[in-house]
Amino acid sequence: MDFNFSAEQLAIRDTVRELVQDRVAPRAAEIDEKSEYPADLEKLFAENGILAIPFPEEYGGISGSSVTICMAVEEIAKACTSSSLILAVQALGSYPILLAGSEEQKKRLCPPLAEGRVAAYALSEPDSGSDAAAMRTSAKRYGDEYVLSGSKIFITHGSLADTLVVFARTDPDGGSRGTSAFVLEREESPWTVIKLEHKLGIRGSPTAMLAFDEVRVPARNRLGEEGQGFKLALGVLDRSRPGIGAQALGIAEGAFEYALNYAKERRQFGRPIAEFQGLQFMLADMATQIEAARHLVYLAATKVDSHAEDLTKMAAMAKLFASDMAMKVTTDAVQVLGGYGYIQHYPVERMMRDAKITQIYEGTNQIQRIVIARALLR
Ligand SMILES: Cc1cc2nc3c(=O)[nH]c(=O)nc-3n(C[C@H](O)[C@H](O)[C@H](O)COP(=O)(O)OP(=O)(O)OC[C@H]3O[C@@H](n4cnc5c(N)ncnc54)[C@H](O)[C@@H]3O)c2cc1C
Repeated sequence: MDFNFSAEQLAIRDTVRELVQDRVAPRAAEIDEKSEYPADLEKLFAENGILAIPFPEEYGGISGSSVTICMAVEEIAKACTSSSLILAVQALGSYPILLAGSEEQKKRLCPPLAEGRVAAYALSEPDSGSDAAAMRTSAKRYGDEYVLSGSKIFITHGSLADTLVVFARTDPDGGSRGTSAFVLEREESPWTVIKLEHKLGIRGSPTAMLAFDEVRVPARNRLGEEGQGFKLALGVLDRSRPGIGAQALGIAEGAFEYALNYAKERRQFGRPIAEFQGLQFMLADMATQIEAARHLVYLAATKVDSHAEDLTKMAAMAKLFASDMAMKVTTDAVQVLGGYGYIQHYPVERMMRDAKITQIYEGTNQIQRIVIARALLR
């Protein structure tokens, strides 16, 4: 399959690749070790137009294509998963505006995001994760504003975002049709950060529990009609899941490349360990799995860009396959390095810890299978 990347997309990828080699890769181990959000890299990405990738030109961006987002996320994730979330979550938090925003909202809200205002996406709650429609955060209308009350959990960049899309219940008895989406601008609708989580991986990406204590939001910041929130939340995930697939792909590629080079250098029994067929078969399987995932991820991203009818199914397949692949490939990369793979000095244990989250967020892989089966049986 020829992905037919445009000259523009290839130029963006090359810019990202260069920045990653020069500025991101040397910081990756330290970011993980210190569990530190790389604010310097966020600034670097903003200055180099990387945060403008999710937006079309008419809204201040440079692309707006899912394929381009995937290319950039993949490149960054090869070196540092936490840093790849700076772009992936910028896209996740902006999709609701691009999908459901009025022309006025898109013109007002998108250009500052393209320039580097940080976006985040708040759907999950302590008691509603996979069953997102059971959310309890409420939004009550009083004149030309809404008052939001409740809490959200595990919100990537929720602690540092400037613009937060929050899904809340506008009709207590409406079930999935009783929810709506709101854009909160931190300056006019401030939320509270309750705590930051300590995590297995993606340690440089803050994950926050947030509280909304009667937060006032202007009615002009509601996205779409009342009652359309849950449908929008799912529509956004359909479009962002290929990006998680691309992230998983990048993590696996980073680990594979390291393991391959290591196998050529490391000598046991008087020869490089790469000469042992037991390891050759592992390396062959890893490379094959990566190639298969690459095709699925970019096929799904192409479906998003062409508004294909089966994009929900394909996005779920790409996220499911690529994340399971990344977990397997990174685990095998640790095995190729033997004891050294288990030691923090080498990057593959970090990549293995980072890979795990791709099987969980934006819908667990059990939920992806439900989405795929539902599409098959419809
Ligand atoms: C680091 C991190 C970052 C995150 N970032 C964000 C974010 O930015 N914004 C946001 O809104 N959310 C975010 N999340 C939340 C994430 O999307 C949820 O954790 C995820 O959807 C699962 O929900 P849960 O944790 O409540 O698990 P649960 O829904 O409680 O699931 C527990 C287990 O049950 C399984 N399960 C549940 N229902 C079914 C079913 N019907 N059939 C089969 N198995 C089922 C699940 O697959 C899982 O294995 C993040 C989470 C983490 C850990």
